Amino acid sequence: MIGDTATRSAEIIRRLKKTYPDAHCALQHSNAFELLIATILSAQCTDERVNIVTSTLFRKYRSPQDFLAASQTELENDIRSTGFFRNKAKNIRAACERIVEVYGGKVPDSMEDILTLGGVARKTANVVLGNAFGIASGVVVDTHVSRLSQRLGLTEAKQPEKIEADLMELVPKKHWIMFPHWMIFHGRQVCQARKPKCASCVLADLCPYFASLEVDTKTISPAARPTPPQALTFLCVEPTLGLAHAPAPPRCAAPPPPFDRLAQSTRPRPAAAAPPLFFCQ
Ligand code: SF4
Repeated sequence: MIGDTATRSAEIIRRLKKTYPDAHCALQHSNAFELLIATILSAQCTDERVNIVTSTLFRKYRSPQDFLAASQTELENDIRSTGFFRNKAKNIRAACERIVEVYGGKVPDSMEDILTLGGVARKTANVVLGNAFGIASGVVVDTHVSRLSQRLGLTEAKQPEKIEADLMELVPKKHWIMFPHWMIFHGRQVCQARKPKCASCVLADLCPYFASLEVDTKTISPAARPTPPQALTFLCVEPTLGLAHAPAPPRCAAPPPPFDRLAQSTRPRPAAAAPPLFFCQ
């Protein structure tokens, strides 16, 4: 693994930017107000679900005044499938009330003002300011950014506010808006919570989490070490080829399964177990 945290974070940013050139805000919106509502709805809910709900919600409610004209119960029913719908409806109505009464019907564009809206905390404020107004007010920290920042050794903190403070030290301000999108894309596609795909990760050589897995692999007993890919035995279902052969012959169309380094390092085979078998089709 290369360099200190500052050097590594710079290289992590460079690689993520190159890997995810199309990264963007996953919440569909056409203005700051819609993004505010979508972000409030996204708490404890997937972006996909929020987008399904808002695709009809934003046709019915086009302004803060429209939300205030509906009853609490009606709004709750309209957003029910996003979960925590009572609190979310209450927060949306409180935010709309303040937007209308204090800010002339427009979402304010400063951190200080936007935090005064009902149910809006720092993460929501950063999402709206960054993605709707292009203002780099901080770094959005959601579940993906938290997990990846910890695995990549960019922070040791657990609370989002402290994680954000650490990231604001490491990430240049010009990347504050895009950095979370790159991390979220990587978290969804590669560094998933339960089973990160470390073997195919572009950040593996920069990642302390992955380095710790390598240590585990080296320190387990030789008999229990994972079998390297070339030693795997293949059974061919092609009747004319008979049973076992190693390595797989050219007539087997399917390539050998990828070597799952993480799975093998975390779940080593017992010494006495038979070698793993794979079937070519
Ligand atoms: S090497 Fe593994 S843990 Fe580290 S960032 Fe990549 S997928 Fe995540």
